[in-house]
Amino acid sequence: MATILCVLFPDPEGGYPPKYARESIPAIAGYPNGQTVPTPIGPIGFKPGDLVGCVSGELGLRPYLEANGHKLIVVSDKDGQNSEFDRHLPEADVVISQPFWPAYLTAERFAKAKNLKLALTAGIGSDHVDLGAAAQHGVTVAEVTFSNSISVAEHVVMTVLSLVRNYLPSHEVANYGGWNIADCVSRSYDLEGMEFGTIGAGRIGLAVLRRLKPFDVRLHYHQRHRLSEDIERDLGLTFHPTPQSLVQVCDVVNLQVPLYPSTERMFDDAMFALMKPGSYLINTARGKLCDRDAVVRALKRGTLAGYGGDVWFPQPAPPDHPWRTMPHQGMTPHISGASLSGQARYAAGTLEILQNFLDGKPIRSEYLIVAGGALSGVGAASYGLK
Ligand code: NDP
Repeated sequence: MATILCVLFPDPEGGYPPKYARESIPAIAGYPNGQTVPTPIGPIGFKPGDLVGCVSGELGLRPYLEANGHKLIVVSDKDGQNSEFDRHLPEADVVISQPFWPAYLTAERFAKAKNLKLALTAGIGSDHVDLGAAAQHGVTVAEVTFSNSISVAEHVVMTVLSLVRNYLPSHEVANYGGWNIADCVSRSYDLEGMEFGTIGAGRIGLAVLRRLKPFDVRLHYHQRHRLSEDIERDLGLTFHPTPQSLVQVCDVVNLQVPLYPSTERMFDDAMFALMKPGSYLINTARGKLCDRDAVVRALKRGTLAGYGGDVWFPQPAPPDHPWRTMPHQGMTPHISGASLSGQARYAAGTLEILQNFLDGKPIRSEYLIVAGGALSGVGAASYGLK
């Protein structure tokens, strides 16, 4: 019998939804790179489209786990030494956590987690796990690669348009009974004809480029390895060998690289000083890729005309986090990858990984980040080893 400790975000303040806005979600057969969607064995314990990422949703895991004699503990209290998470950690064989509500698995916590064998991210992005400590303790780290990549790409496109068109302040004018057109449009532009660049053109970054092409923008990208000539030609991409080169020519910059030590604070005062005045920066990758206070300074100075995204540090962000109140921002809590559509896929992928782990079968290499004491699988490339 295994003990599975699952850390999920709290239920809606008004209670678990009795019904949903839509009756179903489209069935997605596969991902753009040919990878198949999750393939758990047997019934999944939820209806696709249900809210499964919160405490009452339990990722739909309880029926399978209890039928197979395992123990499921679900908590949302995760921070501080006396959190429920800390209290249960010593007995856990598996910890499941979502990037939206991360249970930070630090070296100290690994030392306490004597039984831990698998740290499973229900979603994508496992920087809340100390990967070095996981390797040292022989803990496997896995995430549900591609499950919510398109969900995030859609959020990026939404944020680009929201910031450039000045949608959010204009919506506020409508909400509060106003009609001052000049207030709404004095910061509103067309995206058409602008230079758009992404730093990181992997699963999400490339999906963003593909979605923005029909807007007649000129597309740029930077990452360490070039995309194929076919993709560059199809999308009319300009490759930049450094992020500095890209930010100097782009009007809108999207940040889509994983967080690991050498990408932390990629955007600091020096990087902002290179950007075109009045640029927009979108970050749905990780909050720590940007120097928190340098973002605020860039907005106040006008280097940035807007900053938007959904990732912060720490999470949940404290009420006085300056990104909540800085000007010209389109921030949300960390939601882009947690749409009900994304949840259905990452919950099914979590079940697939759990089933393989509990049955002693190999976990798909595209889900692995750390295994056998070292970076492993597709995650080895994402987290800096290539
Ligand atoms: P991928 O691994 O597919 O893509 C990341 C890209 O970043 C790769 O193409 C890689 O290319 C590039 N890259 C890595 N390191 C560097 C570097 N030092 N400099 C420049 N480019 C680099 O990841 P995804 O697209 O699936 O996800 C990206 C990130 O988005 C995740 O790590 C996660 O943090 C975040 N995310 C956020 C979500 C949300 O809900 N907001 C949900 C899902 C993911 P190369 O190796 O050639 O450099």
